[in-house]
Amino acid sequence: MATFKILALPGDGIGPEVTAEGIRALQAIGERFEHVFDIREEPVGGAAIDRYGVAITDETIAAAQASDAVLWGAVGLPKFDNDPNAKVRPEQGLLRIRKELGLWANLRPVKVDPALADASTLKREVIEGVDFVVIRELTGGLYFGQPAERRTTASGRRAAVNTMAYDEDEIARMAHLGFRLARARRGKLTSVDKANVLVVSQLWREVVTEVSKEYPDVQLEHLIVDAASMHLIRRPRDFDVVITENMFGDILTDEASMLTGSLGMLPSASLSDMTEAGTSRGLFEPIHGSAPDIAGKGVANPLAMFLCTAMLLRHSCGLEEEARALEAAVASAVNEGLRTPDIAKPGERALSTREMADAVLGRIGK
Ligand code: NAD
Repeated sequence: MATFKILALPGDGIGPEVTAEGIRALQAIGERFEHVFDIREEPVGGAAIDRYGVAITDETIAAAQASDAVLWGAVGLPKFDNDPNAKVRPEQGLLRIRKELGLWANLRPVKVDPALADASTLKREVIEGVDFVVIRELTGGLYFGQPAERRTTASGRRAAVNTMAYDEDEIARMAHLGFRLARARRGKLTSVDKANVLVVSQLWREVVTEVSKEYPDVQLEHLIVDAASMHLIRRPRDFDVVITENMFGDILTDEASMLTGSLGMLPSASLSDMTEAGTSRGLFEPIHGSAPDIAGKGVANPLAMFLCTAMLLRHSCGLEEEARALEAAVASAVNEGLRTPDIAKPGERALSTREMADAVLGRIGK
């Protein structure tokens, strides 16, 4: 019987409501497949600021480093958002834990459920069958390259500079992750760059092409980022796994998330170096925020959190069958027409968070 140490960080707003369901999902999977999930909970974000004066404590960071995975709810509260002078902010907790755990790859699966295809702003015939994963580089590129500063020109004019920089190892590990994931899926990798203009992108393309020699069974395509942004909404079904630089990924993942039309359905994972066993310590979080407008009402959609939990099982615990069982339970509930208010059509009966969660958990392994 395998034991996994999980740190649950519920955070603020609807964070605790959906994280509670993620924990129940782990317990249900544990019972059904005979694993033990040793789960510890700590406050983060506004909840930690209120209690300890910081968005995440050193003890919580140490607990994360001693865990197999971290399940993150959401952070952020209006009282902090509305105070431009606040010295500590809930989001600092997320930035710190990403850094301390060395999470360099951000995975965002985008899968359109046929039953929900009408929730998208795009036509059903364009998005039906869409199922891909974008992997965004998270710790390098334009957001972290140095120098990054304001300057004054010789003639006294204001100027500013940011730097896009990668070394070949940072690119190669992204490529390996992309190829490995593509191999476990439909066998196609799209690498997105701006090699027609940027020398960093030329190196990126060169290294990805070199790494591709180790994966002859995976089809590699290079796309320029502007073309990729077009193809994402014109022929999104053609993508399987996409790898890209930090800022390109930031923009493309937001664009991609709109294909599905529902924030409450989208999970994400941030991963660190992979072990020999093919797993890596990760932080798993829905892409939605703390949704203060619906917090405390018991109506938050728990499906993004369930899909995060499935990713945790797959990427940090190496439990593929269990991950698929949870994903299948979510798909089955949606296909049978079960809806929380955010995805219900006008007039359709909507379930509470707990009712939807019970429906999904009752379908595991069915
Ligand atoms: P949001 O994602 O919290 O909410 C946007 C809209 O989507 C709201 O109407 C909300 O009710 C709805 N929504 C979001 N998740 C839902 C769910 N699971 N079920 C049903 N409806 C859902 O974005 P926002 O309102 O811009 O931000 C609110 C707070 O969250 C801010 O403080 C922001 O900084 C923070 N935030 C945190 C994270 C994070 O923790 N990673 C991410 C994004 C935003």
